[in-house]
Amino acid sequence: MSPKERRSIDTLAVHGGEPEAYAHSALTAPIVQTATYSFSSTKELCSYFDGEIEREEYGRYGNPSVRLVEQKVAELEGVEDAVAFASGMAAMTTAILALVKSGSHVILFSDCYRRTRQFVCGFLDRFGVTATLVPPTDIAALEAAIRPETRLVISEAPTNPYQTVVDLEALAKVCKKHRVKTLVDSTFATPVNMQPARFGIDLVVHSATKYLAGHNDVLGGVVAGSHALVGLVRDVRHVFGPCLDPHAAFLIQRGMKTLALRVRHQNESAIRVARFLEAHPRVTRVHYPGLESHPHHEVAKKQMSGFGGVVTFELDADLEGTSRFIDRCRIPRIAPSLGGVESLIEQPALMSFYELTTEQRKEVGILDNLVRFSVGVESADDLIADLEQALAG
Ligand SMILES: *Cc1c(COP(=O)(O)O)cnc(C)c1O
Repeated sequence: MSPKERRSIDTLAVHGGEPEAYAHSALTAPIVQTATYSFSSTKELCSYFDGEIEREEYGRYGNPSVRLVEQKVAELEGVEDAVAFASGMAAMTTAILALVKSGSHVILFSDCYRRTRQFVCGFLDRFGVTATLVPPTDIAALEAAIRPETRLVISEAPTNPYQTVVDLEALAKVCKKHRVKTLVDSTFATPVNMQPARFGIDLVVHSATKYLAGHNDVLGGVVAGSHALVGLVRDVRHVFGPCLDPHAAFLIQRGMKTLALRVRHQNESAIRVARFLEAHPRVTRVHYPGLESHPHHEVAKKQMSGFGGVVTFELDADLEGTSRFIDRCRIPRIAPSLGGVESLIEQPALMSFYELTTEQRKEVGILDNLVRFSVGVESADDLIADLEQALAG
């Protein structure tokens, strides 16, 4: 479909990737709970292997319930294809492994999901792949770090937890010039707020556990992009086997039907929460790309239609004082994760970096007084009133 013919994201969230009809004229997608598929004859088997017919073969290679998630994400991202995984990290690690080989070099922006950094900086060297970390959004530093053997640049947009926003168009341009592939973890943005492929990004990764599924009840991951690149990633999934389960796939596609509704509500609530926090005397800094005070607000405005549901902020408090504030909040639950209907709150210094000292945390850029608030779909008035009482304590 040409961009003009493309349906709106709201319509695609509901109908994208769905076939004309399901068995028994069921309106909603069946859960195809099978590990394998049978052939009517050896002749059918041979025509399948000869590429004369398209059909399923074995559960690790494909499943219609999983395929629906893949096609829905591909349509929402405006790309040719997508491949689903058992978790966001399965998607991320498989995508990276599909694009590198021994001797390759990859570049990662330093503000990112902790396990992504761990994989890139602590695991890839086992395969003879080297990595360079560059400061978030710094395209000049990125270009300077590119070497002849650089294969891949990995970024989040916005990043976790500081919500820096790299200029995707500039990133894609520099990488194309040097024939380096780009991979963007777009978990925080969702295709409702941003479609990285429109700016020339090669592969888009999602932790479907977050906004796509949206209900804090299932794990999943997706990699989306061109047929050629997604095909490479799919081939590696066939070998490693981190497949999405059909039940989980059902929950994800079901959650995605309300993706546009939820994310827009979360966008609206989050900007109100961010403005409230910014004006509060006990809050020293708010990291939310929708705020005019955010250093990347102009870039965010250029490439995003909404700024997401995560608000990161710093309190005028130490580690313990910040914990006391979190414990006083009544609506958001204390939990890792984000993007679901329930608001969640966490102190990154404790949640993801507990084993480090304050000094070590400073080195990786995690402050003791940092709070990450994932805005759910509750009333923004209630959330703000709750934050207000917790801050007053
Ligand atoms: C949660 C998350 C991941 C990992 O996804 P899982 O589904 O938990 O494996 C990767 N990137 C970002 C930005 C995330 O928030």
